[in-house]
Amino acid sequence: MINIVIFGPPGAGKGTQAKILADKYHLVHLSTGDILRAEIAARTESGLRAKEIMDRGELVSDQIVIDMLASKLESDARGYIFDGFPRTIAQAEALDELMDTYNTSITLMLSLEVPEIELITRIFIRGKDSGRPDDRNEDVIRNRIVQYNRKTAPLIGYYSGQGKHYSITGTGGIEEINQRLCQAIESGIHA
Ligand code: AMP
Repeated sequence: MINIVIFGPPGAGKGTQAKILADKYHLVHLSTGDILRAEIAARTESGLRAKEIMDRGELVSDQIVIDMLASKLESDARGYIFDGFPRTIAQAEALDELMDTYNTSITLMLSLEVPEIELITRIFIRGKDSGRPDDRNEDVIRNRIVQYNRKTAPLIGYYSGQGKHYSITGTGGIEEINQRLCQAIESGIHA
């Protein structure tokens, strides 16, 4: 079983690449952002509470996202690609415990590196079609990057400490970036 964390700041291309990798390696793609947006669309209580936080570009509470993610794990999955999760050390620790209860573990963490100026441009372009309110306001986009640097980037140290962190250049074409990710996966699996 391979379990991948696809990592990087907002706009790094995690969702796009996660979909391609999920198809190629037959993994279940779990995006906490997508799960939260589905909760908002279904107008659930936790979704509506999360919406205000997401619209400000802040992080939803650890317990809410951990519980949401835990409810999506399946006992017969061939592996997962986690996209947008974990985003804090507490979430990474909870993920390790969850994987342990399924007698598995995170195989590797692929971190997409993209310069900040490009992230902002990419998110603005995506916002034209995505319909996401948090992709349309520059202050919110900047706050998402601030939150990433403050709370999420420390996970690089967490996974490096476990020997699972792979840094991937996240600029260039989708196909080219995908090849870099696949190379890292192949070397990570056989490491
Ligand atoms: P994303 O689709 O991954 O860009 O996530 C959009 C927004 O959903 C984020 O800015 C957060 O407000 C919220 N969110 C998604 N995943 C998480 C997470 N793992 N922890 C906390 N908040 C999250």
